[in-house]
Amino acid sequence: MTDCIFCDILNGAASASMIYRDEIVTAFMDIQPINLGHVLVIPNIHAAYLSELNEKVGAHLFKVAMRIAAAIRQSSVKCEGVNIFLADGEAASQDIFHVHLHVIPRFTGDGFRLKFGPNYGFRPGRDELNEIAEKIRENIDARDTNRIGQVSLLQAIFTHIVKPI
Ligand SMILES: [Zn+2]
Repeated sequence: MTDCIFCDILNGAASASMIYRDEIVTAFMDIQPINLGHVLVIPNIHAAYLSELNEKVGAHLFKVAMRIAAAIRQSSVKCEGVNIFLADGEAASQDIFHVHLHVIPRFTGDGFRLKFGPNYGFRPGRDELNEIAEKIRENIDARDTNRIGQVSLLQAIFTHIVKPI
């Protein structure tokens, strides 16, 4: 056992109802679903936050989530729409600190919704929007993700022992 429940699922120490597994990501049923059919997709290597996650692994996480969303829609699981959701950080309601992407089947009247806070509804002026945009824009290329990415992706592929599901 580790101190991470998702790593325990990956190494077989904890049980899960598996959906999908490849060299990079694993998907299984959420044990406390928002709606039946709620799936989690996680990287096979522990990363607590998005900032620790290789971009190529993140892209693959989303690709597999798209396939699972399509599979849920085609299945007999009640599903009229899908939410794909990721909580990064405690303030964003992250509960388990191993990156996970939620794939949540939705249907009319299921009662699930995002509750907006008191800041919602305020419309900042164009000058303020431009100012905020610049603050973000000037940080986009701050990290050499490509170099980090290639090393980490190779690690992901060659150091992880894949178990069949
Ligand atoms: Zn973990």
